[in-house]
Formats: sequence, structure tokens, C-alpha cells
Amino acid sequence: MARVEIRKLHKHYGDFHALRDLEITMEDGEFVVLVGPSGCGKSTLLRMIAGLEDVSDGEILIDGRVINEVDSKDRDIAMVFQNYALYPHMTVHDNMAFSMKLRRAPADQIRREVEAAAATLGLSDHLKRYPKQLSGGQRQRVAMGRAIVRKPKVFLFDEPLSNLDAKLRVKMRSEIRSLHRRLGNTMIYVTHDQVEALTMADRIVVMQGGVVEQIGSPLELYDRPANVFVAGFIGSPSMNILAGSITGSAFITQDGTAIPLPQNLPHAAGELLLGIRPEALVRCDPADPSAVAATLVSVEPTGAESHVSLTLGGEEIVAVIRERLADKPGTALSLKLLAAGAHLFDKATGARVP
Ligand code: ATP
Repeated sequence: MARVEIRKLHKHYGDFHALRDLEITMEDGEFVVLVGPSGCGKSTLLRMIAGLEDVSDGEILIDGRVINEVDSKDRDIAMVFQNYALYPHMTVHDNMAFSMKLRRAPADQIRREVEAAAATLGLSDHLKRYPKQLSGGQRQRVAMGRAIVRKPKVFLFDEPLSNLDAKLRVKMRSEIRSLHRRLGNTMIYVTHDQVEALTMADRIVVMQGGVVEQIGSPLELYDRPANVFVAGFIGSPSMNILAGSITGSAFITQDGTAIPLPQNLPHAAGELLLGIRPEALVRCDPADPSAVAATLVSVEPTGAESHVSLTLGGEEIVAVIRERLADKPGTALSLKLLAAGAHLFDKATGARVP
């Protein structure tokens, strides 16, 4: 069992308030991803859970027990870092065996556990090598092996894939996920990459400027972002945001363009932001009552679909059109907005209009 609770947690570095009033509960066996732009405080939070940073105020609990004052080595937590932190003068076997040797475990038990972890991670043939004789992905696996051998209650990962090339990163993502399925431990994973968060997490914690902006499953965050920050951060290409207000059943942008709104959107007064997912714009007949005119700026074919830049309502926006567009820049397009990818936010607060 390892339920990790963060209660009214604050971190100050001198005058700088790095984390503010965080409230997060991570359930036993959950894979939780902390995501946010550089400097939002995600590594600080992870390091506080690991016991590598002091708590300024608030509490961290594991299975109901406050661990603020518990020494890092007694927390039953293993951390996998971005730079792997392997011992260069030790073989793969000895790197993985290190924590068990410290605990003075019997030699045959150490051998069994290291071999089992190596088999899980596909490292059985590399146990006698040194870190410099391994690829980046293999080193990353040794770092994970070292964590597995410790049999911790909680695994923490601090951007563990950021030094790998794009292809290996995708492969390691699914390896870490399948490791999680096999071990069933609570895992807390930090990344600034929202694609990594969406593909790996049971639940995502989106942070910005030391506060939690939203906690939810990947689809909850994608389908119902709580505010305009989460809306813009989660999803690629990013959600388009247009300022304006609602008149009748249309959203009137600042240059006076009327965008007919899908019926399910709330009818709110005042200054608003309309969020449009790039895939929520589809081509339609100009005579369609829902049509809005846009002008093509550029087309980026990606094979099955086209990423297009358009001007709509006086702004340049991005749409993902599920066809190969052969039209030239300057062409007028008729588009309509689909309900599933349309969102309204209050302009002053950024909060979702429910
Ligand atoms: P990145 O993705 O760039 O690693 P992050 O979200 O992990 O960013 P943190 O490393 O947690 O961010 O840092 C949060 C904030 O706290 C940053 O503004 C950083 O400059 C500040 N900070 C971190 N460590 C210290 C420290 N020891 N002293 C002072 N400020 C610090």
C-alpha cells in the first residue's frame, strides 16, 4: 500500500514562494504525472516527496503517516533521475545490486533479485558491462533496475526520458507503463512534455507558477479543461483561443466575425474567450447555416491529414483537416465548428464557463 497525500504544502526559497498550497492525493498503485512549463515547481514537489528538500509548510503523508521529518533513506521511495546517476566504475550488476549490498542482504538473494530485474528490463546480457558501454536507453533501464531492486513503496521519476532521442523516448514510455502494470506500485512521474503526460498517466496534475491548475485523467483534461491555461497546455497542436462575446447564437470576434456556436455551449454574457481545438474545425458547404469563412495561410501535409494555418476572425489559427488539402494560400474556406472541440472561458479570470 502506498497512498501519497500532499496537504496544504508550501515551499519557500528565501523570499521566493516556489509552491503554494498544494492539495493532491495520489492513490495506491496510481501512475500520476506532474506536468507544467519550466519553473512551475514540479521537480521541487518531487524532491520534497523524496525527502531531498525540506517542507516549508504543510504535510506529506504516505499511507496516512506524516513523513515531513522522516529521513530520505527511510521513506521507502526510489527516484529515477534524468541523468540516470549511475556509478561509472561499477558494472550494471553492481549498480543494480548497490542498495541491497548497503542493506547487507545475502549474496544469493542479491543475485536472484538483480537477475529478475535484469530479465524484466531486457538487460540480462549486459550485467557485466559498465555504463559507458551502454546506449542511452540501456542506461535508463539500469537506472530503473536499480529502483526496482530496492522494492520501494513509491517510484519517483524526474524527466527520465529527456536525454533520449524521439524514437527511443516513445519506446521507453510504453516500457515504463508496462513496468507499472507488472509491479503495481504508486508511480509519480515529472515531465514538461504534455504528450508524455497524456500517453502515460492515469491522472495528470497540471502545474503553473507553483500552483495546481487542474487534476484529472488525460481525457478529462482534454475534454473539460478547467481554465484557459490547461486548455492551451494540453493538446498538440494547441487549442486556438479567440477573444470576443456572444450575441444570439454566435460568437462575435473582435473584428466582428460571427462564428456560429454549437448548440451545447453555454450562453454566457460579457467578455469571453472561445477555445477551438484544431480538429474541431471541419470543411462545410458555404451555404451551411453554421459556416464561417476563413482564409488559407499555409498547409503542412502530414500524410493522412493536413495541418493548416488560417485567418479566422482576424486571428491566425491552426486547424487539423482530415484530408489532403491541395488549395493554394489565399483560398477562401468554409468551416464549421464541432461541439466536441469548442470551449468557453471567462476573459478576466481564464476560468471555464461551465
Ligand atoms: P524544469 O522543468 O525547468 O525542471 P520545474 O517545474 O521542475 O522546472 P523547479 O525546479 O521545481 O521547476 O523550480 C521551481 C522554481 O523554484 C523555479 O523558479 C526555480 O528557479 C526555483 N528554485 C528551485 N530550486 C531553488 C533553490 N535551491 N533556490 C532558489 N530557487 C529555487
